[in-house]
Amino acid sequence: QHHFKNNNITVKQRGHFFGHFHGLIFKVPVLLFTVDADVTVVGSGPGGYVAAIKAAQLGFKTVCVEKNLTLGGTCLNVGCIPSKALLNNSYLYHMAHGKDFASRGIEISGISLNLEKMMAQKSGAVKALTGGIAHLFKQNKVTHVSGLGRVTGKNQVTATAEDGSQQVINSKNILLATGSEVTPFPGIEIDEETIVSSTGALSLKKVPEELIVIGAGVIGVELGSVWQRLGSKVTAVEFLGHVGGMGIDMEISKNFQRILQKQGLKFKLGTKVLGANRRPDGKLDVAVEAAAGGKNETLTCDVLLVCIGRRPFTQNLGLESVGIELDNRGRIPVNNRFQTKVPSIHAIGDVVAGPMLAHKAEDEGIICVEGMAGGAVHIDYNCVPSVIYTHPEVAWVGKTEEQIKEEGIPYRVGKFPFAANSRAKTNADTDGLVKILSHKETDRMLGAHILGTGAGEMINEATLGMEYGASCEDIARVCHAHPTVSEAFREANLAASFGKAINF
Ligand SMILES: Cc1cc2nc3c(=O)[nH]c(=O)nc-3n(C[C@H](O)[C@H](O)[C@H](O)COP(=O)(O)OP(=O)(O)OC[C@H]3O[C@@H](n4cnc5c(N)ncnc54)[C@H](O)[C@@H]3O)c2cc1C
Repeated sequence: QHHFKNNNITVKQRGHFFGHFHGLIFKVPVLLFTVDADVTVVGSGPGGYVAAIKAAQLGFKTVCVEKNLTLGGTCLNVGCIPSKALLNNSYLYHMAHGKDFASRGIEISGISLNLEKMMAQKSGAVKALTGGIAHLFKQNKVTHVSGLGRVTGKNQVTATAEDGSQQVINSKNILLATGSEVTPFPGIEIDEETIVSSTGALSLKKVPEELIVIGAGVIGVELGSVWQRLGSKVTAVEFLGHVGGMGIDMEISKNFQRILQKQGLKFKLGTKVLGANRRPDGKLDVAVEAAAGGKNETLTCDVLLVCIGRRPFTQNLGLESVGIELDNRGRIPVNNRFQTKVPSIHAIGDVVAGPMLAHKAEDEGIICVEGMAGGAVHIDYNCVPSVIYTHPEVAWVGKTEEQIKEEGIPYRVGKFPFAANSRAKTNADTDGLVKILSHKETDRMLGAHILGTGAGEMINEATLGMEYGASCEDIARVCHAHPTVSEAFREANLAASFGKAINF
């Protein structure tokens, strides 16, 4: 047996396996590395990589195990980042290609789409950002171990690389951040060419003539918008009676749907997909019926995007070996310090309960490792914002009007339309409104719902206010730069607190 030790890493040969190459059979040694660590993070998505960096900054000897070739998880590789690159560029194309530029006195001709180049810009952004994590790991002395991580003890993770070599990491603490995967639609097989998940929809080689999206939630409307702007006829079929997914305020959702329809997106709400069949001409027939039963219909498309949600990813993680059972939705149960029933094993991000959002995963990762260092662990899930990056954007934080009513809280509403905001007016971009919900007796802000350009940035002001327990008067008395769209946020707070805005 071969055996050596260097920098706390021990390497042993553990037998061998046979490899094949161009008909030749050869013997490959199976190497076993052992590493000692304070914190071992499994998964390098926004939850895992941020937690690993923070852990190292706190002085922990930190290892991060990632099974994919690139770091950054769903968010950087096939989620937030590539989708936002395509949303931005498809919006610019749409503006230049449609009548909008001409109405501003910008007359250009000969506009055409180079989809390959648009995809290359997206891939460039992804490459730069995933590479950036590798750099941050080096800078912060996080050891990156490439391989599939498996829990093999209460204080042990074994990582198996593609070549079969293994590293055993003995670790004081383990942090599982293995994220989520696309939820499959029973009976519809995804080939990522014509029947695609969000992953395939980020890399289509040509613009489909007709695209059907199953699910008009956040990802469905974002990716539907991308392809609609690039020229597809898009229909989104949604089981629920509204667009924008769970958690959206109904008044905002209705306005949002109206604006998207004006842009050309079609919705079939309260409708369920029964199945899809490929026709001899290569097109797809999609059978749908009213969710309440009855009305059947067949829709046709070139590309079908299955977008019905994501589910926690815990495959081959070895949880059963330490007695950790999943909850009824496949998530890893944790306490308020993100510890599983095995106190040395923690879990955060999409693999635990709560909204499947990158910033939620990041925040959990940071406070979880701070907790390992003896710090306080607290997160207010009511103050986790949500954003839909369409045009206009939709963003919200806190409670919806429906929730407030259901909880029987006395409340006030303050609204301000962007049509009355000077900056939105000068930009000729006036769709949408700000809606603020406050406690009728204390004036405390309970929820902020924004539909409009810049909503995704503006919502951070609302979140800051809510984290500090701000009243609407507090916000209304903060001087806001003029002319900015954020003045609409201030005015809506003024309306909630004093019953009247100034400019509306
Ligand atoms: C199209 C799309 C758009 C999105 N847009 C947004 C957005 O705009 N804003 C937002 O907040 N959220 C968005 N999301 C959601 C966001 O991507 C996730 O909430 C976020 O990535 C979750 O982070 P995570 O760290 O928990 O897991 P993930 O990002 O899923 O990372 C998990 C990592 O763990 C690795 N892994 C899994 N098992 C193992 C193992 N056994 N060993 C080693 N490695 C393992 C995986 O390879 C992966 O790299 C989007 C998602 C999609 C699909």
